[in-house]
Amino acid sequence: MTVPAPHQKAKGLKPGSPRPAKELCSDCGLCDTYYIHYVKEACAFINQQFDHLEEQTHGRHRDLGKEDEVYFGVHEKMLTARKQEPIPGAQWTGIVSTIGCEMLNKGLVEGVVCVQNTPEDRFQPQVVIAKTPAEVLAAKVNKPTLSPNLSVLEEVEKSGLKRLLVIGVGCQIQALRAVEKQLGLEKLYVLGTPCVDNVSRAGLQKFLETTSKSPDTVVYYEFMQDFRVHFKHEDGSTELVPFFGLKTNQLKEVFAPSCMSCFDYVNGLADLVVGYMGAPFGWQWLVVRNQTGQEMLDLVQDQLNVGQVDSSGDRHQAVQQGITAYDKAVTLPMWVAKIMGLVIDKIGPTGLEYARFSIDSHFTRNYLYVKRNHPEKLADHVPPFAQKIVEQYELPQQ
Ligand code: FAD
Ligand code: SF4
Repeated sequence: MTVPAPHQKAKGLKPGSPRPAKELCSDCGLCDTYYIHYVKEACAFINQQFDHLEEQTHGRHRDLGKEDEVYFGVHEKMLTARKQEPIPGAQWTGIVSTIGCEMLNKGLVEGVVCVQNTPEDRFQPQVVIAKTPAEVLAAKVNKPTLSPNLSVLEEVEKSGLKRLLVIGVGCQIQALRAVEKQLGLEKLYVLGTPCVDNVSRAGLQKFLETTSKSPDTVVYYEFMQDFRVHFKHEDGSTELVPFFGLKTNQLKEVFAPSCMSCFDYVNGLADLVVGYMGAPFGWQWLVVRNQTGQEMLDLVQDQLNVGQVDSSGDRHQAVQQGITAYDKAVTLPMWVAKIMGLVIDKIGPTGLEYARFSIDSHFTRNYLYVKRNHPEKLADHVPPFAQKIVEQYELPQQ
């Protein structure tokens, strides 16, 4: 008789029941499964453990003496890229979906964990283990809501899959790496995206209603490098709203508490990260963290135009001013916001400096959030690299 592994004796929580991380839970899905057995070590909001998991995944932890590693994590290289033939309806040019498809086509994996949407609601996540390229393609475009990607882990183990690709954001990948050795896989590939300011489905509705002129027809949105939110609508039109014109006073409560206390914007434990914020407008930004990440990139290299990462400007003043404005929940009149957006777009940070601008702005905000709302967690929860970033700025005392 085979003895079940310790986790197989545990039981996942019922939907809607309280989670071990309480209000900080990002609904990563781990606790929906018997892997809840490991939650105290695995949960990104209970036990932050970058150093250990970076060693386990990349063979070393990030070098705090190198600015690029402090900001972007362990990596072998960074580049910009875009698909020669973009996938229509993808979030950017569809590099993530293309890698997922090629991994299946080439037989490197038997399944791809990704996020489709429910039939009723384009933004309600439905996590699947895709077994065909068509199922991967059906998961294209961001569902900008908390998504329980790890809820399928029991199914992975029970179905005997041995080679798996997981696509996911930082909090999901931290928990995944913590239980990786228990999954019984021969090979796990992790394709990450950066992630910030995520929301519950109800929070998303509030964001759309507060910010867009036509919330019900939005099919996609992104906070772009030109300091504007781009909303794409069903009829193909694009609506632009300057960051500085966002109704900060109404939006402060919208972002999930997990995302207000997250310091893994750049998904430090993925093998390959595909985002946009370190690249020129229209291009994607890739961080290859290790050889497994390079292997994934190699699969699609012939379908890409590739460029070097670039950097210009100085973010510090804009970040410092933003800290005060956000804290006081300042909302500018729209005409002022538009002018500010245009000026900053012309003279502001670009490329990797824009990425640093976004990381600095979010880490300082999140540091203050943790300090004010969970002071007992501050010392353990803010990793040394984030501490280093935050120390560059003057923060309100209270
Ligand atoms: P596509 O080919 O369209 O594929 C998108 C993939 O995302 C799909 O495989 C799907 O499974 C997965 N996915 C969709 N929704 C979720 C979800 N809720 N959780 C986990 N996985 C999901 N990049 C930046 O550079 N800076 C940012 O600030 C930033 N913020 C982001 C915030 C969120 C909430 C998300 C989900 C992503 C964010 N990204 C950010 C990543 C970026 O928006 C693109 O997702 C990425 O560049 C891939 O684009 P693509 O065209 O290759 O993806
Ligand atoms: Fe569980 Fe994930 Fe929520 Fe932590 S974030 S409590 S691991 S579901």
